[in-house]
Amino acid sequence: METFLASNLIRPALYQQPLENGAVKCLLCPHQCVLYEEKTGLCHTRQNRNGVLYTLAYGNPCSLNVDPIEKKPLFHFLPGSKILSLATAGCNFKCLNCQNWEISQSSPQKLRAYDLPPEAVMELAGENNIPSIAFTYTEPTVFYEYVFDTAKLAHEKNIKTVIVSNGYINEKPLQDLCPFLNAANIDLKCFDTHLYRKLTGGSLEPVLKTLKTLKEQGVWLEITNLIVPTYSDSAEMITSMCKWLVDNGFEDTPLHFSRFFPAHQLPNLPPTPIKTLLAAREIAQTAGMKYVYVGNVPTLGYENTVCPSCQKLLIERTGFTVNKNFINEGKCMFCHAPIPGVWQ
Ligand code: SF4
Repeated sequence: METFLASNLIRPALYQQPLENGAVKCLLCPHQCVLYEEKTGLCHTRQNRNGVLYTLAYGNPCSLNVDPIEKKPLFHFLPGSKILSLATAGCNFKCLNCQNWEISQSSPQKLRAYDLPPEAVMELAGENNIPSIAFTYTEPTVFYEYVFDTAKLAHEKNIKTVIVSNGYINEKPLQDLCPFLNAANIDLKCFDTHLYRKLTGGSLEPVLKTLKTLKEQGVWLEITNLIVPTYSDSAEMITSMCKWLVDNGFEDTPLHFSRFFPAHQLPNLPPTPIKTLLAAREIAQTAGMKYVYVGNVPTLGYENTVCPSCQKLLIERTGFTVNKNFINEGKCMFCHAPIPGVWQ
């Protein structure tokens, strides 16, 4: 694949509303940026040109890899398979702890990118016999048109699609995308509106709405909660989050607590203490969450899937590798209890 400086690939954006004096309102995410002539949105991917909003992030991924699906993380979705993973530059959050800030806080006009329209993504997945595609690393919402066209094409070709997202998207674009999505991992950053704003620049409510919509629409869902010391490590807040999840029918949804390592604007915070992660796991299980994992600490052994009915080990993982899998046709091989997920 050739690389090129992706400065001239622009397409009209979906979900826009013209305003007076040549301004345009972007209706893609809850920020609802109002953009005047030549201005670019908070996400760096949408620009007003002559009163029309264009996306600058189409067919020009700056990151492209084949990953183990466990890395997304998705633990109940085609375990042990590979996933073609891509991202354009840009994000609608400004997370203090972002590990990919060099690409998420940049613009498609500034980074070198692959020339990879949706048809080429299909070819790449097909040639390499990869069963699914992930829109990940940055924020898929901000390259929505590229995600949508690729996911629609993938759907026709029986290739599965996944978003790894902050969930900060308006209801209409999410509803429109759902029929072409097979799975999502949504980052639920914390469970406090004020802290959400401080940590990410976004807000909590739209993310909760996204979780509900994905579930209602039958998209396989897993949730990640990165525990950042002094920001999202309060036991009370984790308790409230888990209570909300159980009260809203998410007890079968895999919940991944993830360990923070110093990054971006939080270089001086320590990694999340192991005892905090274990306490969070305990809280979630006590609240009624059935599949709770602890990520970014492979030696801990809490990345295995255990049958909630007979307590037998079902999937043994080391890091991103699946060592053993005792799930057969979506059921525990020992007690035959159904285990929710997409297994083949
Ligand atoms: S997608 Fe980008 S331009 Fe549109 S509202 Fe969100 S941050 Fe603003």
